[in-house]
Amino acid sequence: MKREKLNIILFLIPLLFMGFVQVSFAQRKQTFTVVIDAGHGGKDPGALGSISKEKDVALSVAKKLGEKINATHSDVKVIYTRTTDKFIALDERPKIANKANAQLFISLHCNALDRRKTSPQGVETYILGLHRSQDNLEVAKRENSVIVYEDNYETKYQGFNPKEPESYIIFEFMSNKFLEQSLNFASLTQHELINGAKRTNRNVRQAGFLVLRETGMPSVLIELGYITNRDEERYLNSSHGQNTITNSILKAFTKYKTEFDKRNGYVVSSENNVAATSDTESILDLSIEYKVQFMTAAKLFNPNSISFKGLMPVEYYKDGNLYKYTYGSSTNEKEILLLLNKVKPKFKDAFIVEFQNGIRIK
Ligand SMILES: [Zn+2]
Repeated sequence: MKREKLNIILFLIPLLFMGFVQVSFAQRKQTFTVVIDAGHGGKDPGALGSISKEKDVALSVAKKLGEKINATHSDVKVIYTRTTDKFIALDERPKIANKANAQLFISLHCNALDRRKTSPQGVETYILGLHRSQDNLEVAKRENSVIVYEDNYETKYQGFNPKEPESYIIFEFMSNKFLEQSLNFASLTQHELINGAKRTNRNVRQAGFLVLRETGMPSVLIELGYITNRDEERYLNSSHGQNTITNSILKAFTKYKTEFDKRNGYVVSSENNVAATSDTESILDLSIEYKVQFMTAAKLFNPNSISFKGLMPVEYYKDGNLYKYTYGSSTNEKEILLLLNKVKPKFKDAFIVEFQNGIRIK
């Protein structure tokens, strides 16, 4: 009898060790897959600038971003929809992400306006939804129009006509269970591109992009800047510009991934932190960031909801089941007081909250 027990214990001991070994490996295992989608490619050049094509800018930025994620996150698997100048059907892109069971889909594009001389500049980060403005619809129309390069696009996309506003009704009745996380990543990205890369803020927006429609994960489409604006086109083609932009998206990604790990109970590997602090442009920001909190609600509003009384861009964080909405961000106490004074006439109970690395601290 005793011997049997001993046998069982002797049998269990190696199992226990195997268990430990597996746990420690699990922490380093790739637990997160991100798909980086360089828009357009091959016969589809995307928008045309005066010295470059959208497809080339998107590919170059996509590769740089992927390299940076690989270099700083050993637990992240990076998958590209393309790494060369080749044509990929629009519906293939989400399929690649779905097949890989990815946790995040980032589509990279450049904005364009025909009236070259008056082209604006700035970044817009899109999540899926029905457009609330003509501008947003125009961007979605242009990006969706690439399906005409595909054979049988009418049957393939069930009669969707990218140029007809009526076609976009389908986006109104879509339930999107990834809206909240998509909006979260979009807000982090926009925030970093504005505050880190100092790009002109054209806000987080919603529109009906076919490429985002079929993805089974949080997904965003970033319009990195206007290729039809001379200065911005030059910036988008420079290695300085591309490095600054990708550093900012990487910073947003790192924050998003840290939140993801916390939610899923993964141990934040110290390896990432070391990589972050040894990088010259520190990836994890340890300084205190101030924001103006002006509203708490049980529901998630659209980024351009009238409930925000014109405040743009608005961010939020979750506290239990509540959404806490904030406006503005600064590491400077005086600057945030100025912003608070701007918000007070609209929301008299607004106050300042502190964040560190994207997490609210008391
Ligand atoms: Zn595009």
